[in-house]
Amino acid sequence: MGENGLDNLLQQLSSGERVPAEVWRCLLTQLDAEATERLAVMARGVAQSRFGKGVYVRALIEISSFCRNNCNYCGLRCSNTLAQRYRLGKEEILLSCREAAALGFNTFVLQGGEDPVQGDWWLADVVAAIRAEHPSKAITLSVGERTAAGYRMLRDAGADRYLLRHETADALHYAHLHPHSMSIENRHRCLYELKALGYQVGSGMMVGSPGQTVEHLVEDLMFLDELKPQMIGIGPFIPAAGTPFAGEPAGSVERTLLLISILRLRFPNTLIPATTALATLCNDGTCRAILAGANVVMPNFTPLHCREKYAIYDNKKNNGSESAQHLDLLAEKLDKIGYYIDFSRGDYNAR
Ligand code: SAM
Ligand code: SF4
Repeated sequence: MGENGLDNLLQQLSSGERVPAEVWRCLLTQLDAEATERLAVMARGVAQSRFGKGVYVRALIEISSFCRNNCNYCGLRCSNTLAQRYRLGKEEILLSCREAAALGFNTFVLQGGEDPVQGDWWLADVVAAIRAEHPSKAITLSVGERTAAGYRMLRDAGADRYLLRHETADALHYAHLHPHSMSIENRHRCLYELKALGYQVGSGMMVGSPGQTVEHLVEDLMFLDELKPQMIGIGPFIPAAGTPFAGEPAGSVERTLLLISILRLRFPNTLIPATTALATLCNDGTCRAILAGANVVMPNFTPLHCREKYAIYDNKKNNGSESAQHLDLLAEKLDKIGYYIDFSRGDYNAR
């Protein structure tokens, strides 16, 4: 593609108008290596103009590996007999938050399977306790689909943000990835209810999930354009042992990086993490994601004796610069590319 062609696409990305499917399609399929690099340079320029060279950090606490759901891609699915199960108690979660706070973290992310034992009342009590101990810190939840009443209870208890990927915006593809008991309508209901309750909402999709086509990604981008989430998490699909997709190939690192750049250019203020899945597939995945326009990393604060058990996919990285124990490695990595850890809350700012 010539420079003029790319300029034209970029102009449409930065316009206030809805981006037509054709533009997303061209960006996903027509860029050669040189154009992709140009896109990445522009995307990181946009990220730097918003966030400087700081990368926000969030303390990730994986609170349960039990899940009542049976998503075909996930190692925690309820029918995976290979999965090792654990759940953290309230005190363990509070302890992890204290550890993170002592290291200067200002955001906690509580993520887990949809564990019936960690229901709305239980979790609201935990959130309220975190809020009482850490009045000024951000509390993010990522605990799946709940009722509107549940989301409200958690919000009232003090949760500020919620991560719930839409996974795929195509109804047939959604049905391919999930059991009959789950529906795309319910996922969308959850996302819009979370927004209406005033949560900062994160959504996103896996890249290269089984059956995914370019057209599905175009639908994903159009859905994100409509939802306008404050955070967008994307990472490559990675097969997980004991799941129906255990033998499927992993998603592409290059395509994930390209999508990060596209998303940054379309949503300049959005918080975009360099995901663990990307770091798992590629040693310098975190830095490459940041150089493509990402601006968040989520070091792992899950207690060490449980960490291995939160195996959503195979060989998940959890003990290098992804871990609370090695923040120095993360700082070193970022320093090498001219970035640094920013410990502030890093709320979404529409500017
Ligand atoms: N249960 C909550 C949910 O589904 O939103 C939160 C935990 S879930 C493990 C978090 C995310 O992990 C999902 O949104 C999904 O995109 C991602 N994930 C699950 N299995 C994966 C896999 N095999 N490869 C890459 N990402 C995966
Ligand atoms: Fe459960 Fe989330 Fe995994 Fe689905 S993706 S099986 S809801 S933990």
